[in-house]
Amino acid sequence: MTAVQGAPRLSLVIPMYNEERNIPALFARVFAVCAKLPFAFEVVCVDDGSKDATAQLVRTAQEANPQLVLVQFARNFGQHAAVTAGFAHARGDWIITLDADLQNPPEEIPNLVAQFEAGFDLINTIRLGRQDTWFRKTASRWTNQLVRRISGIKLSDFGCMLRGYSREVAKAIVACREYKTFIPALATLFARRPVEIGVGHAAREIGVSNYSFLKLLSLQLDLITSFSVSPLRLLFGLGALSGLLGVALGLLLLVMRFMYGAEWAANGALTVLGILLIISSLQFFAFGLLGEYIGRIFQQVRLRQPYVVQTVERRGEAIEHPQTVVDA
Ligand code: UDP
Ligand code: MG
Repeated sequence: MTAVQGAPRLSLVIPMYNEERNIPALFARVFAVCAKLPFAFEVVCVDDGSKDATAQLVRTAQEANPQLVLVQFARNFGQHAAVTAGFAHARGDWIITLDADLQNPPEEIPNLVAQFEAGFDLINTIRLGRQDTWFRKTASRWTNQLVRRISGIKLSDFGCMLRGYSREVAKAIVACREYKTFIPALATLFARRPVEIGVGHAAREIGVSNYSFLKLLSLQLDLITSFSVSPLRLLFGLGALSGLLGVALGLLLLVMRFMYGAEWAANGALTVLGILLIISSLQFFAFGLLGEYIGRIFQQVRLRQPYVVQTVERRGEAIEHPQTVVDA
């Protein structure tokens, strides 16, 4: 079956980092699925500074598949930067992201398309039967829970990269120009009608994960710090705790002094501890106060859009859609 020609309605965005061995099977499965779609599509491959033949393989495949677009980074900037660049260059109304290592089955694409057709503008996903190590699954469960609590973003699975974004949501993400962000979480801020669906997940058959323990930790920290300043507020909590302990110890010492005399309380050593606790509580409060201001500076410099206008309507005039003006 030959694919429909013309301006693409669907753009696939695939970040690739040293994935030369996965590309043949990836393209075979992606094109088998997409050729059956009743509209035109494109496949935007973002080569995130691969050191292997990834970009060359995409270029070669372009000869037979004009739907392929190659965006090549000068060096490795990370998966989320690669996806953002893919959004900036995608021309479709609907954008679906997926991993190049076939952990996200391309056969799920029609299920995401069906959600776009039903009018949803952000298709969040939950990996059903996730095929990763016990460590990865446990770490994700904890981070998902923590991020849900501190950011108020109620997603079941932040980490699945097989997701759907309307062009408007994707362009709003590009317009944020955020440094080190986490796209699935950021997208929720701009969606009008989000939905969450289950998708399949496979083990990585070829190669190993690009995320070492340290890189994974850094990614989870990006997720937490990009969407909440609560870690800074924790300093106030620590200050209050230290102050309470200091005051409680002081009171205890006072009572014991009257009951058992001056030789009690290790000749003043415990008094010093009580005073230290109170002084350190003042320091924590001072850090917390600085943290409040730094948090505000951080939120301000991020230049995240404070709101998204969908339409502007004036009596007797055509409806404006300012959101589409948000352009990269
Ligand atoms: N990836 C990328 N840049 C990176 C790391 C990963 O573009 O610095 C791509 C990678 O090629 C794959 C996807 O992001 O398509 C997910 O990466 P990986 O499979 O290594 O991560 P995991 O599935 O273990 O989370
Ligand atoms: Mg993977």
